[in-house]
Amino acid sequence: MRVATGGFSHETNTFNPRRTTLERIRRDGLYLVGPAVLEHHRGTRTVLGGFADAAAEVGMELVPTFFATHGPSTGLIDREVVTHTTERLVEGITAARPDGVLLHLHGAAAADGISDPEAYILAAVRQAVGRRTPIVVVYDLHANIGPAWAEHADAIVGYKTAPHTDLYERGVDGVRILARTLRGEVRPVVRLAKPPVLVKSGLMSMTDAPLALIKPPMYWLMARANELERRPGVLNVSVAAGFGDADVPEAGMTMLATTDGDPALAQRIVDELAALAVELRRGFATDLVMMAPAQAVDRAVSTPLWPVILADQGNNTAGGSPGDGTAILAELKRVGWPDAALFIADAQAAVAAHGAGVGGPFRMAIGGKLEPSNGDPVEVEGRVRLLSDGQILDQHFGLPVDLGRSAVVRCGHTDIVLTERPCSQYHPGFFRQFGIEPRDKRITVVQSAHLFRDEFEVREHIPRTIIEVDSPGITNPNARRFQYKNLRRPIYPLDEIEEGEAAARVAGTRA
Ligand SMILES: [Zn+2]
Repeated sequence: MRVATGGFSHETNTFNPRRTTLERIRRDGLYLVGPAVLEHHRGTRTVLGGFADAAAEVGMELVPTFFATHGPSTGLIDREVVTHTTERLVEGITAARPDGVLLHLHGAAAADGISDPEAYILAAVRQAVGRRTPIVVVYDLHANIGPAWAEHADAIVGYKTAPHTDLYERGVDGVRILARTLRGEVRPVVRLAKPPVLVKSGLMSMTDAPLALIKPPMYWLMARANELERRPGVLNVSVAAGFGDADVPEAGMTMLATTDGDPALAQRIVDELAALAVELRRGFATDLVMMAPAQAVDRAVSTPLWPVILADQGNNTAGGSPGDGTAILAELKRVGWPDAALFIADAQAAVAAHGAGVGGPFRMAIGGKLEPSNGDPVEVEGRVRLLSDGQILDQHFGLPVDLGRSAVVRCGHTDIVLTERPCSQYHPGFFRQFGIEPRDKRITVVQSAHLFRDEFEVREHIPRTIIEVDSPGITNPNARRFQYKNLRRPIYPLDEIEEGEAAARVAGTRA
C-alpha cells in the first residue's frame, strides 16, 4: 500500500484585515516539502503524527508530498497561496504514483476568489489520480465544508472534540479507513448535509466541563453522531461546527457520514443530525452567557472564588483576532491594576521593553493598533520584569512557537506579557514560560474562546470561576453584530428559521 500524504491548514477570519500571503506562510508558518512533512510531525499528537504511526502499524508506505499551514488564524488568503499549494500537492502526489491519498485539510480556509480552497485542492487531486484511487481527508471541527467535498473524497473524518484533543486519533482513523479500502474490505461512500446554522467561537465547546452551566448543543450533536457511528455499515460520522468568522457561502455547520457502500444510510444519518442541529439552534445564542468587560473585571476582583479565568471572547487569537484587544486591559487599569496576567501582541511595545532592559521603566500606549474594533491603545506605566526571545513550546500540541521578542511588564500587581506575534493561551504553560503561575494569580485573562477549558479546567482544575467576557473584536461570538455579504441565507441566528422551512433547506443542500 503506497499512499501519498500531505495537506493544507488555515483558519481564515475574513473579518481580520491582515491578509495571509505566501510570504507570511513561509516566514511565520510551516512550509514543508517532501520528507520534512513527516519528519516535522512524527512523534507529535497531530493529525500527521497519527498518520505516521498508524501507517507503520498497518504496513502502509507513506510518501510525504507537501504541507503548508499558518497559525494562529489570520485574514483572507491570497489566491496564489491556494494555487501554489494545489500545484505542489498535485505534483508530489502524481510523482508518487500512489494506491491511495491521505490528506489533512483544516477546512476553514477562504481565499480571494476561492471561497472553499479545500474543495479546489480536492478537485485537482481527484483529477490527477483518477476515480479509482481512494482519497481520505481528515479535517478540523471548525471546517466550513462545501458540497464538492463529498464529490471528490471517498471518506471524510473530522475531529470529535472541542477543545481539540483528538487530532492524533482522527489521523489514525483516516489511515485505518484507507487501509481497509485498499485491501478491498470496504467501499466507502460519503454524504453530507448543511443545516442553516452558523456558530461563532465559544459555544462550540463540547467539553464535559464542570464549570459549564449548560452543555452547548455541539455536545449533544456529537454524542448522537458517535452513537450513529457504531451502527453496522457505518465507517465514520462527523459533525463540523464550522467557522462563523469567515464570510463565505460554505460557512456554518456540516454533517458528514461515510458508510460502506450504502449512500442511503449515509443520507439518513446526515439528515437526522441536520434536523437535530436545527432543533437545538437556540442553544447557540451566545448573548445569554457573556458578561460585559467592566462587569467581568469587577466580579473577578471581588469574588472569593478565585483563581478567575476571563475568556476574552472578542479577542480570541485562535479564531483570527490579531491579539491586541484592550477591552479587558482598560478595565484592569480602571480598577488599579489588580493581581492579574494577560497577553497583548504589540511588536512595537515588545521591542521598547527590550530597549528598557530588565528592571527598566516602561511607559507606552499598548495594544489597539491592529484592528479597529479592538479598542484604543491603553497607556501603561510599569517596570520590565523579564525579557525573552519568545521561543516557547505549545504544550497542548507539543509544537514549538515563535512569539518574537517578548517581555513581561509589571504594572501594579498586573503582569502584561508583550509579544511581537500573537498566540492563544489555551494552556497554562503559555504563562508559566514567562514566569507566571496562573494557579497563584487572582485573574488570568486568556485570548481564547473555549480551547483553554481542556487544559485549565478539565486537566489542571485551576479556575474556580470562568467568565465569558463580551469584549468587542472580530471574534465576538455574536454573529448578529457582523455584516455578512457572501454567506448563504437564511441562516440562524442571522435569520429566524422555522423548523419546517429548515428541513426543506437541509434537503436542498444535499451533496
Ligand atoms: Zn479548530
